[in-house]
Amino acid sequence: MIPKDYYDVIVVGAGPAGSTAALYAAEHGSSVLLLDKKKELGSPIQCAGFLPDASEIQALLPDAKLPNYLKNYPCSCVLQRIKTQRIISPNCSVKEFAVRGAVLDRRRYDQFLAEQAAKEGVELMIKTCVTKVEGTTVETKGIYGKHVIIAKAIIGADGPNSLVAKSKGLSFKPGERETYVALEYQVRNVDIDPDSLEMYFGNNFVPGGYAWIFPEGEDRANVGLGIRIRMAEKGVSVKEYLNRFIQDHPIAGQKLKNGVFLNVIAGIIPVNGAPKRTATEDSLIVGDAAGHIIATNGGGIPPAMIAGKVAGETAAEFVAGGCRLEEYDHRWRIQIGNAIETSVHIRRLMDGLIKSDTLMNAALKLISPDQMKIMQCGKLPDLVKIGLQAINRRQK
Ligand SMILES: Cc1cc2nc3c(=O)[nH]c(=O)nc-3n(C[C@H](O)[C@H](O)[C@H](O)COP(=O)(O)OP(=O)(O)OC[C@H]3O[C@@H](n4cnc5c(N)ncnc54)[C@H](O)[C@@H]3O)c2cc1C
Repeated sequence: MIPKDYYDVIVVGAGPAGSTAALYAAEHGSSVLLLDKKKELGSPIQCAGFLPDASEIQALLPDAKLPNYLKNYPCSCVLQRIKTQRIISPNCSVKEFAVRGAVLDRRRYDQFLAEQAAKEGVELMIKTCVTKVEGTTVETKGIYGKHVIIAKAIIGADGPNSLVAKSKGLSFKPGERETYVALEYQVRNVDIDPDSLEMYFGNNFVPGGYAWIFPEGEDRANVGLGIRIRMAEKGVSVKEYLNRFIQDHPIAGQKLKNGVFLNVIAGIIPVNGAPKRTATEDSLIVGDAAGHIIATNGGGIPPAMIAGKVAGETAAEFVAGGCRLEEYDHRWRIQIGNAIETSVHIRRLMDGLIKSDTLMNAALKLISPDQMKIMQCGKLPDLVKIGLQAINRRQK
């Protein structure tokens, strides 16, 4: 494919944020080019793939206007439907609450989203890396050769190490960003509860973070962990922690002892919310590039797509002369800003506890399953807040 020299909107990155932004920009009348460096969209997968049902997302983000394909997607994208979530404390006590959703095949889902954008008239170039962004000029290099393309607006949906954010002065300063470093395996022959998500805590296995076992249908599971490197033992790698969890955890170890490991995936999850500014006069950032993540559970697909819709609509309105692009910043915060900020606040509160298994056991004992669900969703019930602050104070 040979791109044109000029588009209204160029979207860098065809993940959930980018494809959604591209679709809505095109639907609102813009000519749109969507670029991704991957040769196969969604692959390698860097996600455990859990997506709550629309009703759960709406309860978590009551002010959000959900894009269509966050609510409606084909069954072929679903690996497993989910009914419950379990939290396993460092001392192995278990709490469970109801949650409705699906573990998605991210490869299929990302491709489905890009396809819907293309049906709306978006031009898609895969295996095309954006190498430079200057003003509204984008330089690309890839399977279709080298190109210099101009747009009126650039949307950076290029993930946690966003080139667009760096080029536009929208990223966090070095040292300001907090991330989970994540590693996960796809495993077969797991003794698994097929409709339950499991999250495990405990410093011996997951310092400053949590491990998970997410069912992927039949006897398959996604088994992974996200840790905070500054809280880890010196000299112990993320891979060593994950292997330790798989071999030695009293509950998980039993489920995984006959596992056949098919695939290993690494990634990072930004967990300190969005930077102060997410838009300039000609560019904006969205999804992981903008820290659109619920920091308590690492859920990034819903906020990426909700903000993606706002990004696409705002870019198209800007191109048509109807608004300033900077209005995007205010518009997405109205819909999901509160939930993201509160989730960061809860994660920081939990940071004080998570360093100590004793405190974490006490905290998880104190919190009821219903309250856990509320916290997972980035909200902090008053009673829990008071209890956690008291435990934190006792620690100091
Ligand atoms: C291990 C792990 C497990 C997770 N599990 C879950 C989960 O269960 N549920 C959930 O909701 N979230 C989960 N997340 C978070 C979720 O994956 C992300 O929040 C989500 O993918 C964000 O979408 P995005 O479109 O912003 O970014 P991405 O999906 O990262 O897409 C960015 C795209 O930009 C492209 N790109 C980057 N740079 C360039 C460039 N220079 N030129 C061209 N293309 C470029 C990339 O190839 C990529 O396709 C997890 C994350 C990790 C790491």
